[in-house]
Amino acid sequence: MPLPAELARLPGKAVASSTATRHSLLFMAALLLLLFVVTSGGLVQIALQQNARATEQSLFYLDKAIRAREKSILATLKDYAYWGEAYRNLHVTVNYEWAYTRQNLGPSLFQDFAYEGVFVVDPQGRTSYSVVNGQRVSSELGQWLGQDIDELLEQARRQTEDEEPVVGFAQVGGQAALLAATGFTTGGDPQVGIQTGPPSLLLFVDLLTPAKLQALGQDFGVDNLRLVAAPADPQASPTLSLTSVGAGPLWLHWEPAQPGRQLLYLILPLLGLGGAIFALITWLNLRWAIASAREVDASYASLYASQQALAASELRFRDVAEAASDWIWEADAELRLTYLSTRFQTLTGHPVSSWLGRPLSELMQFPGGLDAWLQGCNSHAMASHNCECQYRDLDGELRTCHLTLLRIEDGPMADGYRGTVSDITDELQAQARIEHLLLHDALTGLPNRNRMQAFLEGKLKALSSASKPLVMLSIDLDRFKPVNDSFGHEVGDQVLAEVSQRLRFALRDGDLVARMGNDEFILIVCGIAAAQEVERLCARLIAGIEQPFNIGSHTIFLGASIGVAMSPADTSEADELLRFADIALYQAKGIGQSSWCFYAKDMNERVIERRQLESDLRQALANEELRLVLQPRYSVSSQRIVAAEALVRWQHPQRGLLGPDSFIAIAESTGLIIPLSAWVLRAACREALSWSEALIVSVNLSPVEFRRGQLVAQIRAVLEETGLPAHRLELELTESVMVEDAEGALALMLELKGLGVRLSMDDFGTGYSSLSYLRTFPFDGLKIDRSFMTDLHAAENSQAIIQAIIGLGRALALTVTAEGVETQEQLDLLRKYGCDEAQGYFLSRPMPPEALRLLC
Ligand code: C2E
Ligand code: CA
Ligand code: CA
Repeated sequence: MPLPAELARLPGKAVASSTATRHSLLFMAALLLLLFVVTSGGLVQIALQQNARATEQSLFYLDKAIRAREKSILATLKDYAYWGEAYRNLHVTVNYEWAYTRQNLGPSLFQDFAYEGVFVVDPQGRTSYSVVNGQRVSSELGQWLGQDIDELLEQARRQTEDEEPVVGFAQVGGQAALLAATGFTTGGDPQVGIQTGPPSLLLFVDLLTPAKLQALGQDFGVDNLRLVAAPADPQASPTLSLTSVGAGPLWLHWEPAQPGRQLLYLILPLLGLGGAIFALITWLNLRWAIASAREVDASYASLYASQQALAASELRFRDVAEAASDWIWEADAELRLTYLSTRFQTLTGHPVSSWLGRPLSELMQFPGGLDAWLQGCNSHAMASHNCECQYRDLDGELRTCHLTLLRIEDGPMADGYRGTVSDITDELQAQARIEHLLLHDALTGLPNRNRMQAFLEGKLKALSSASKPLVMLSIDLDRFKPVNDSFGHEVGDQVLAEVSQRLRFALRDGDLVARMGNDEFILIVCGIAAAQEVERLCARLIAGIEQPFNIGSHTIFLGASIGVAMSPADTSEADELLRFADIALYQAKGIGQSSWCFYAKDMNERVIERRQLESDLRQALANEELRLVLQPRYSVSSQRIVAAEALVRWQHPQRGLLGPDSFIAIAESTGLIIPLSAWVLRAACREALSWSEALIVSVNLSPVEFRRGQLVAQIRAVLEETGLPAHRLELELTESVMVEDAEGALALMLELKGLGVRLSMDDFGTGYSSLSYLRTFPFDGLKIDRSFMTDLHAAENSQAIIQAIIGLGRALALTVTAEGVETQEQLDLLRKYGCDEAQGYFLSRPMPPEALRLLC
């Protein structure tokens, strides 16, 4: 479920607030820092520009000063050189007295103009007059200068005519020197005669000594003006180059005034201090702002968390309320409903609104009333109470539920109630269903063994105290097994359901019919004691079951056997009564179909014995206790053995050798007949192989085995396995095979004939319909039952019957065998009537295989 929009936005807000505060503060700090840097940069720039301008100015003025100095030296030089007196006294002749002594061109030049050197060079290039530092000396100009300045002198000489002196710089003794030279002229003085040839030259040397440069610099506001050997970095300090007449240029260097620097010296510390204070304040502010933003964040987060927890708890409550199988209710102090969860409508069908404001007692029916229950609750100190109550849903169906109640002691709804209601109707129904299933048979819906047991015990207790009678009938259906086998379980189940109905209808209300197992039922009937009455009931029950069952296209006939045990006549114990009824049933089954039997004390032992034999027989097969004996059949005419019948014996470890009459019925009823028959068949076929090839071996088939589907396959397998030719095997069947299912029997017999074996009808004459069967079924022979032999010689009737049977056999081309021939007379009669074969003690008793082998 999504969070409400307002809540969903909260965490974003909280995080944004601290980050935004931090960001905006940092941005402002950065902005102020930038302003500070730009201002400082601007100031520095201004200072540098001022410095540059000051340097430029100093350069301009210094250049001007140098030019002025040049002009001044040239002007002075002109005054002295273009003067007739000087021409006469220093060119025409060299008059030291005039020049030096009289100070016309002597020490005054040093004293007044500070020219360190005054030289006169004659036309031959020799120095004719020289004054150095105001003293007349006789030194050569080149020597004093330390270099040749012929070029300058030559130029001065050339330009003399035009009275244009030459000026230039040279380095003299490590100092810069301003040189000015020109030739002497008469200066237009008519009294002086002009000499031919080139004039003598006058040269002034103004040494720019450090003192002079210092003074010059100070005049123009520059410090430390000096000559340097090579130009320094022009950016760092200004340089003025002077064209030299000598080797290379001369460089003047000075420290210009730097007004900007002062500005910087003054302002930068102040700016730095201001910046530091500003940074400190900004940092403190930032810290404070971030801390408070964090606080805001934290409170936002805790607000968000608590709101989210609240929302989650609400959601949880809603989910639980909606997903729960219960519904939740709240009521005021008068138990009027004030809240119903949405599940209420889903579960009850009632709209929530239709019940709000109405009393809880109107909705729910409390056993004994709500008030009584509440009083009971109040007397207990427990916080919550619960009870089972009922309500009607919207469809009017009464539902059972479990209601819990809790008193609300405080909170906005002072003194009220709340609780849950869970519908347990389905649970109760399921419980009832399970109980029913535990006590009833799923197929027929009848009570099962458990229910019967409980009923029986209850009844016995109630009746024995009043010494009233109770009859227990144990019923087992006859011929039910084949129904299942041939029509399938579905049909079988429908038959059982129908049988249940019929049994129920046959009883009164207080009686009980229970199904115990497959086709076994128990009936418990109260209120009858007379044996006749019970017999009538049994007859009625059997008659009811013998009515045909029409299931789909099938019409099925069943019978029933009933065992009767009575209380208190036989016993008053439930277990014993059941056992006795079972014993009586066993007995009834033994009697034959559709019969009933009352329990008698001696039955008990017989049944126990039979049961014992049953379990022994199971062992017998595994322990190889079965024995085969063979009884020969003789040709009546030739008196030779033509066949032998296989008969089974049981070598019982305790009871000794048992004949088939004492165990074949048990084998049939337990299904053990199948492995038993297989054993006899295999042993008989194997044995027949040792006889003369003309002899036939006959084997008895049980009706039970005939009904099972495997017979044909089994016989084929034994023939293949032993290698006995099929025509040497004869199968003896009794009429009962055909009575039960004529169509099925015919099909099966045709299949058996297909294998090539012989079929003969055993015990012919004992049934009612043997004659008709003989005609329609593919028999090869018939065996006249030995009961006809017993009174053959006495009863004419028997003789007539035997005669007729032999005649019929002949007509149908069947081999007729007479069984139970015990006397010569019987044999003679048979011969007389034309009987084919005879078998009996008179001819040969059943014998072990070894004995027969000697005869064949
Ligand atoms: P059954 O098929 O009628 O077999 C002939 C019975 O008559 C045999 O009894 C035999 O011993 C007896 N018997 C032969 N000659 C005489 C005589 O002259 N006088 C008298 N009183 N009895 C004579 P047994 O062996 O006790 O067999 C009894 C029945 O048990 C047989 O009757 C047959 O139905 C059944 N049976 C025997 N062996 C088998 C078997 O392997 N499979 C099946 N399914 N049934 C068997
Ligand atoms: Ca037989
Ligand atoms: Ca027989």
